[in-house]
Amino acid sequence: MHIAHLSIPAALNSLRTSVDGLSPIEAEKRLREYGHNRIEEVKSDPQWRRLLREFTHFFAVILWVAAALAIFAETRSPGEGMWQLGLAILAVILINGAFSYWQEYRAERAISALRNLLPSQVKVIRDGELLTLAAELLVPGDIVLLEEGDNVPADCRLIEASGIRVNTATITGESLPKARTADGEAAIGAAASDASNLLLAGTALVSGQGRAIVFATGMRTEFGKIAHLTQTAGKSVSHLQLEIARLSKLVAVFATGLGLIFFLVGTLIGLPFWTNLMFAIGIIVANVPEGLLPTVTLSLAMATQRMAKRNALIRHLPAVETLGSTTVICSDKTGTLTQNRMTVQQVFFENTLCNANEHHLGGAAASLLRNAQYCHNLKQGLRNGMASWLGDPMEVALLSFARKVQDFGEAPLLSEIPFDSQRRRMSVVVEHEGQHWLYCKGAPEAVLPLCTRTGQDGSTALDETSRQHIGEAQERMADQGLRVLAFAYRPLQEQESPAERELIFSGLIGLHDPPRPEVPEAIARCQSAGIKVIMVTGDHPHTALAIAREIGLVTGDRPLIVAGESLRKMTTAQLQIALDNPEALFTRVTAEQKMLVVQALKNKGEIVAVTGDGVNDAPALKTAHIGIAMGVCGTDVAKEAADMILLDDNFASIVNAIEEGRAVFENIRKFLTYILTSNIPEIVPYLAFVLFKIPLPLTVIQILAVDLGTDMLPALALGAERPDPALMREPPRPRDQRLLSWSLVARSYLWLGALQAGIAMSAYFFVLYLGGWHYGQTLGKTDPQYLQATTACLAAIVIAQMVNVFMCRHPRLSALSFSLRQNHLLLLGLGVELSLILLIVYTPLGNRIFGTLAFPPAVWPVIFLLALGFWVLEELRKFVLRVCAESPRQ
Ligand code: ADP
Ligand code: MG
Repeated sequence: MHIAHLSIPAALNSLRTSVDGLSPIEAEKRLREYGHNRIEEVKSDPQWRRLLREFTHFFAVILWVAAALAIFAETRSPGEGMWQLGLAILAVILINGAFSYWQEYRAERAISALRNLLPSQVKVIRDGELLTLAAELLVPGDIVLLEEGDNVPADCRLIEASGIRVNTATITGESLPKARTADGEAAIGAAASDASNLLLAGTALVSGQGRAIVFATGMRTEFGKIAHLTQTAGKSVSHLQLEIARLSKLVAVFATGLGLIFFLVGTLIGLPFWTNLMFAIGIIVANVPEGLLPTVTLSLAMATQRMAKRNALIRHLPAVETLGSTTVICSDKTGTLTQNRMTVQQVFFENTLCNANEHHLGGAAASLLRNAQYCHNLKQGLRNGMASWLGDPMEVALLSFARKVQDFGEAPLLSEIPFDSQRRRMSVVVEHEGQHWLYCKGAPEAVLPLCTRTGQDGSTALDETSRQHIGEAQERMADQGLRVLAFAYRPLQEQESPAERELIFSGLIGLHDPPRPEVPEAIARCQSAGIKVIMVTGDHPHTALAIAREIGLVTGDRPLIVAGESLRKMTTAQLQIALDNPEALFTRVTAEQKMLVVQALKNKGEIVAVTGDGVNDAPALKTAHIGIAMGVCGTDVAKEAADMILLDDNFASIVNAIEEGRAVFENIRKFLTYILTSNIPEIVPYLAFVLFKIPLPLTVIQILAVDLGTDMLPALALGAERPDPALMREPPRPRDQRLLSWSLVARSYLWLGALQAGIAMSAYFFVLYLGGWHYGQTLGKTDPQYLQATTACLAAIVIAQMVNVFMCRHPRLSALSFSLRQNHLLLLGLGVELSLILLIVYTPLGNRIFGTLAFPPAVWPVIFLLALGFWVLEELRKFVLRVCAESPRQ
């Protein structure tokens, strides 16, 4: 019979387990037999097909056609060097394809490595002990504990449940949560996803808690069976990747247009047809940015790796770039800005406020202490092999404080009304001294209205004056940044339903939660980076304000403090206007109200990052541009809805991630500047050849040597640059800012490129005049003097590009302000670049392939001098730019 139809004891028995779970030895044995509890990845595409794809895309096809034409041309008019050109283009296809494949492969490896950084954890009972395990280690027969926000790790049958509702969208596609109970008899023949006592892997608990027996793991789960269907769903493409694709097309069209123009001009001045065609093809090949897309993907992937090292785990590549343009961060307080390491500081009971370490507590505080001891949702279990309480650190602090003062012993838990951020309170019913008790705790505003009495035995009516005193005590504690909780209780009759009413107020407790030490600096960095930080918390306004002042979030004396309730009553326009205030705090906010804040900010055109941890936060996380979930105390549901996960829950890590995100955009611009620069010295020689009838200074094969040889690694290295600290002193980049801006094109084509063309042509003429050439003289294609001159032209471009790498590291700052040690890839790139040009100039093989010949050594100093001049001019330009930026124009 299916496990859904068995009684609980029969279900346990059918899996040879008990409510105490399996023994570790049995679990070990079953793990070997049934394997790990994971969904095997369906190989989306075999490697060979991916490799093949690198040789069959649009640009590659252009190259194949070019190669075929060249080789065909050789048969028509042999001896023109078409053969070499054809082979060279083939080499280009191979090198470029292999390089792209390697980059894609590395990017993918980097991303899949990230996935393993955050294994999902489950609470399991084995041998009667509660422990936390990686979900992978679950086996059939395990007893798991699940609660609100947890993903269901395997297919399970409930044996105990309270208020469980699951979201089965991943399996059934229905988005309405469904109730699940332990005893519900499933209709015979119904689908497993409908059985009301089953929880299926891949679904999540939106509320409630319970225990369940695992009966299927890994690929044997319902989800495993359909996993290959969902895995093949399309990858998301980033705005940036789209932009790059658009840009590549643009450049390709430009290059093709240029090629056509050259072909026409060549025809007009009467060049032989085949030679002319090859020139045109060479121009196109040289200008098409073949490796751009994979380079961008790789630089995004490398950025995600750097972010992961700084505790920010990116779930989708596109998020990297959006992060960089973030303008507002809405941050939780507890655990993100603060440490979530609470200690009890002050206690209020019987109308007196005293410090928690005073000795006369006890006696008079008994009912408060008992209340604090029993009213929690903690579970006793093992953490790192040590017995400890698992759950909310605040509850742990309350419990251990109360126990230290006076231990009231164990009391069996009968039922619970769980905490949620809307009610801001929770209650438990326990049995103690032969009596049932309801113990409640929560925000004073949420608990006090339920109280009618107070005093040792609950005999005093809670009148207005006492309420006033309580209110004053709360404010006093909150003003010091303490989180204040109110406690209340009520004895219950045997069969009475545990309603939270007519409670006896037992006292207040103020807890201190110190800010994280890194936070003040991170906030200061946000301020200088033009990023607004808004605290959105469920806590009391005074507590929030005190903490906000402590961390430097609020410095003025007129911060805007909006309570969640009034937020709901505001119109959209009112809220948007309120958000203009530079210092805004939202307090006593529920998840839905947080969503309103996010929405209003989006309406204002901000790029919003928002943090969250609970199930209720999921919609806000999805709505924001960047949803950030807590890695440590966040629920699985929040993590799934997020774009980024903070491995350490720390606000400062968000700011670091933003910095990396900004760097990516800048880096791509750096390598664009770099690779576009060398296009000009490749085109100018041809123009000179056509217009001034001089021997061609740079052959097509030599152009390819630069574009697909020497330029490749340094360009990649620029994509891997570390973030420049100055990036966080600038305002966020406008969302619509183009990658390829006019200023970038102007700088690389009209300035750097033009200078470089000058250098290349000077080197060329220097060698020619050295050999006694005069204007108008024609030179044979194999004339040593001609070969030497083109070689000098090529060498000059390469040396100038070596200098250019340094200049491209920043659009305004001097090349000298960056250390080389920050970027090892850059050093490697330069080394390879230098070796390549030396091989091309000095080895017979290099000479044969690229049609080169070693030029007199006296040419080197000239090239170096010219390159130095190139550098000086660019530094001068940057200097002028900096001076102009400093003195504001009238
Ligand atoms: P935040 O995390 O932003 O400080 P929460 O939404 O978690 O806010 O909590 C809001 C309020 O609910 C807290 O200020 C506190 O008064 C109350 N509260 C929080 N956790 C508990 C709990 N476990 N039991 C009872 N009350 C709680
Ligand atoms: Mg909280």
